[in-house]
Amino acid sequence: MSRAESRGYASVVLDVDSTLCGVEGIDWLADRKGTDIGVRVAELTDRAMRGEVALDDVYGERLSLVDPTSDDIDALTDAYVAALAPGVARALGALREAGRRVVLVSGGVREAIVPMAKSLGIHANDVHAVSVRFAPDGRYAGHDTSSPLTTAAGKRSIVTSLALPRRILAVGDGATDLAMRPAVDAFAAFTGFVRRDAIVNEADLVIDSFDQLIDLVLA
Ligand SMILES: [Mg+2]
Repeated sequence: MSRAESRGYASVVLDVDSTLCGVEGIDWLADRKGTDIGVRVAELTDRAMRGEVALDDVYGERLSLVDPTSDDIDALTDAYVAALAPGVARALGALREAGRRVVLVSGGVREAIVPMAKSLGIHANDVHAVSVRFAPDGRYAGHDTSSPLTTAAGKRSIVTSLALPRRILAVGDGATDLAMRPAVDAFAAFTGFVRRDAIVNEADLVIDSFDQLIDLVLA
């Protein structure tokens, strides 16, 4: 057991896509729009997650390609709920009962994540993600370009601004999650859905289930 593992954590910052849920939201929306857009968007996402291109450069491009309607976003919520990680509801219940603070910090679409989070007992105020706007007819009308979460270091600046109780554990599968250090005390790579070696190799800890998360946080 590492030192970090033996001391527990007061706060947990969870990624959503491919961590809390086995879905990459933007990729899922893109696939709904057809194979060509799906392939183009997935490639951009993967390169950003591997750290090969800056997230800032591809964020707006991906959403514009996908052009999601409000109905698409509602469908994404359903997909998130259907693809929740095994044991996540139990784990979040145990952490809540033990007085731990849990927040979601995601580069995904806030309007899709909030209702899913609510189903897990996570309040909208504890969901930090990128808002999108729709025209009155439900067509996509742009995203919140001022959100730090469209940038590579955005999760770190959000976590800093939250002033969460220490020690803080961040859990995720991608480069933007890893980049939360040093605003968090430790980063656990979550490999339950996707294993990215570049991330795993830099992580303080590696977990592949939410059962393991309970043990880690309540240690
Ligand atoms: Mg992720």
